[in-house]
This record gives sequence, C-alpha cells and structure tokens, in this order.
Amino acid sequence: MLSYDEALERVLSAAVPLPPEEVPLAEARGRAVSQDVFAPLALPSFDNSAVDGFAVRALDTTGASPQTPVRLMVGETISAGQAPTKALALGTASRIFTGAPLPAGADALVMVEDTESSGSEVSLYAPGSARFLRRRGSDLQSGALALAAGSEIDAGSVGLLAALGKATVSCRRSPRVAILTTGDELRDPQEDGNLPPGAIFNSNAPALAASVQEAGGIVSLRRHLPDDPEAIRDALAEASRFEVVLTSGGVSVGDRDFVKGAVGALGRLDFWRIAIKPGKPLAFGRVGDALFFGLPGNPVSSLVTFELFVRPVLRRFAGHSRVLRTVVSATLAKPLPHEPGRREFVRARIGAGASDHGGSGALIAVPLGIQDSHRLSSLALAELLLIAHEDHGDYAAGETLPALLL
Ligand code: AMP
Ligand code: MG
Repeated sequence: MLSYDEALERVLSAAVPLPPEEVPLAEARGRAVSQDVFAPLALPSFDNSAVDGFAVRALDTTGASPQTPVRLMVGETISAGQAPTKALALGTASRIFTGAPLPAGADALVMVEDTESSGSEVSLYAPGSARFLRRRGSDLQSGALALAAGSEIDAGSVGLLAALGKATVSCRRSPRVAILTTGDELRDPQEDGNLPPGAIFNSNAPALAASVQEAGGIVSLRRHLPDDPEAIRDALAEASRFEVVLTSGGVSVGDRDFVKGAVGALGRLDFWRIAIKPGKPLAFGRVGDALFFGLPGNPVSSLVTFELFVRPVLRRFAGHSRVLRTVVSATLAKPLPHEPGRREFVRARIGAGASDHGGSGALIAVPLGIQDSHRLSSLALAELLLIAHEDHGDYAAGETLPALLL
C-alpha cells in the first residue's frame, strides 16, 4: 500500500496551474494571482495628514505647550480631496483634515485637540510633529511588489488592488469538476423525502459540491448513477472533458463496485489503496485528460480523502502557491486510541483555553468520539484533523501531535 506522503506527491505532480484570465475585483476573493502585481503608483501617492488639525513648519512651533502656547495666523483650509493652492507662508498654519494633501513648506502637524482657534488665529499647545504626517510611498513605493504570484486574494488584497487603481486582476482559471455519486440505495432528498426500506439519502453529492466550492473549484456536472457498469462508463466518458472527475462509492472490492473497471476502460488507474484511515480505498488515475479520484462511499472517508488529496489538487490547478493546510501542533485533551500501520486523520475540535487571551497559547485538541467512517456528525464539528502516525500506538492525554487546521 502507498504511503500518504507518496500518494500526495503523485497526485500533486499530476496537476499544473491552469491558464490565466482577467477577473473583476468583486469576483476575485479566494482566487490566486497568476503573476506578480507591482504597484503602478505609490501608496500613499502624496504626503498627507493623518489627523484633523493644523499643518505647520516645525520651526515656527518650537516650545509650544499649554503654558506657553504659540499663536499663528491661519491661511487656507485644506479638506480631503482638495489640493492646496499655495505653499505655507512663514509664520502661518493651514487648517487641514485627515487625508488632505500637505501644503508645500509644511513639515509637521498639530492635532486639533492641542489647539484653540479664535478668529483668524490659532493657539498651539503642542509643537508640530512629523509623526502625524503620512509620507508618499510610506506604505508601498511605486514599482514595489504588491502581491506575489500564487498568493490568495483575501479582503485585504482586494483593498490593496483597489487602492492601486485596479478594477481587475489576472488569476488562474478555476478547475471544473464533475461529481458522480453511485449507489442503488441512494435517494436525492429534493426528489423524494420518503425513503423506501433500505434506502438512504445521498449526502455525498451535496457535501462534495460544497467541498469543491470551498476549495475554489467549479461544479460543472453533478449526476447520481445506479450501480450499473454501462451507466458509470457513459457518465465517466462525459465527465472526462473537465479537469477533475470525482466519483463516490463503488470503488472497493465488492461485486457491485464497478467504478475501477470503467476507469480502466476509459483511462488508467494509478493507485487505489493508501495506508491511511479513513479512506484506504481511494482510487486515483485519469479518464481522458481529466484527473480521476474515486472517493470511498462512506461519507466521512469521502470528505476526508477530498480534504487530503482533492483540495490540494484543485488549489494547484487554480495556481495557489499554498496548496496544503497549515499544520499546527495540538495537545490531546484526552487519550486517543490508535493502531499502528496506517496514518490516521482524527477529527477533533479545538478545546477551551486555546483561544483565551492570556492562556498558555497551546492548542488543545478534543478528539470527536468514535472515528467510524460513517459518522458524519463528527465531521460537521471538526476543526482539526489530528495526524496519528503509522509508527505510533495509542496516544496518552497530554501528548502533542501535528494537526491540519481546517
Ligand atoms: P460503497 O463504497 O459504494 O460500498 O459505499 C460504502 C458506504 O457508503 C455504504 O454504506 C453506502 O451506502 C455509503 N454511501 C455511498 N455513497 C453514498 C452517498 N453518496 N451518500 C451517502 N452514503 C453513501
Ligand atoms: Mg455503493
């Protein structure tokens, strides 16, 4: 059986970033920048005031204090969005507002709280300070790297791009994904709410669709199939025009497991067993040009193998430089039974204390009960996947192990 690391490496090496496209800023959140973005202008693009107050020459205000105020004549008023019409005359101040351009000649500011105005004069109770001055380029120099290729666009980067005057950004195309679920026992809750004896609702189809969207993919085809070799083969052939084809179920060694045979006929299977838990019977290969993942039918196995292998692949297609989850180190709140032999990914939530300010800072992990692969209720609560190593036995409370931060 393949190790987790080897399987992940093989899967990732099969995916290359898709071509770029121009994306409106409003739709760019979560996408990856396709090339380095350099600032076409400086931020800020002109010297301006960080406070409401008075622009002055520092030399004119030396020694100003509540006991020894300095009085200056007030010249023009400069609001945000206005340009000063003239340089600051010697021995005068300009009324200025936050974000307004600094007049030529001014090199310091006094906050309005440290002043008192009367008529055309102002009394300054503090000397002018350059601390309140936002220098041109102090945030970003013109021509500097604003966003590196492969970085993920979040709200902050949307703000930065907009501040640089960009209405669109070049991102890698999002991978298109086909989701094919299999199983005669499955019903779509939207079609019939009443289950005949032995039937269950199809939970993998919507759960995988949500996972694809979360991972930045586009669900381009979604179909449920009976356990019928011909139906499975036809659907796989149709799905092979997308970048990724996911199936769920029908992939272990049962008599009614037809997926692997159909993939063999249309493409090739690369591997279909990995030394992990849950998710041992994950199949990977190609149908036509598409990457094929045969996910196990068990809902938890299906979502965990998606998390471990499909999400990184979708992110690689989408051009992200970070395709893997952040690995944190977590301390067990209670013992964790673990059989050596396979790497186990254990659903856990983050325990109290970790997020308390002033706490120890250690991340406490509370494993979510029995880890059977049909237990969707534990997955819905999971915030971490603890990584129990194949060479390790049971873990004691207080032991620390790595975890994927979901
Ligand atoms: P299979 O791999 O097809 O043998 O399925 C393994 C287990 O997962 C069986 O109990 C199936 O009923 C269940 N299962 C398979 N596909 C789904 C699905 N789409 N939604 C919910 N349960 C499923
Ligand atoms: Mg089945």
